[in-house]
Amino acid sequence: MGGECVFCKIVTGEIPSTKVYEDDKFLVFKDINPAAPVHWLAIPKKHIPRLSEAKGEDRDLLGDLLLVVGHVAREQNLGAYRLIVNDGAGAGQTVFHLHAHILSGKEMGERLL
Ligand code: 5GP
Ligand code: ZN
Repeated sequence: MGGECVFCKIVTGEIPSTKVYEDDKFLVFKDINPAAPVHWLAIPKKHIPRLSEAKGEDRDLLGDLLLVVGHVAREQNLGAYRLIVNDGAGAGQTVFHLHAHILSGKEMGERLL
């Protein structure tokens, strides 16, 4: 599962990363090419390629992912932040292992919503 997946390799440590938070099911680490002063990626350790491929059995995992984001944001005193999930290449997804971008630390002036 996810044999050639970059984020699975980050989970196993085969590819190094700067970790912000880790537990048995989730990892939050710094994006290698930050688009904001704070740019972290929150992932489930389970290889789910994209949000729209998540199944009913992933219900708790998806809910807990959001709780982890909120917990880390509080723990790290982020204050305000934006959470983005790109679902599919047309939306800009380049790594096909579900991840949520946590962006903070500057005015989020350019916005779609
Ligand atoms: P996407 O465009 O798929 O939503 O976001 C993928 C993100 O993963 C990009 O922001 C990219 O900079 C980041 N990324 C890709 N490869 C690596 C890596 O090896 N290490 C880390 N820390 N981030 C990566
Ligand atoms: Zn993966």
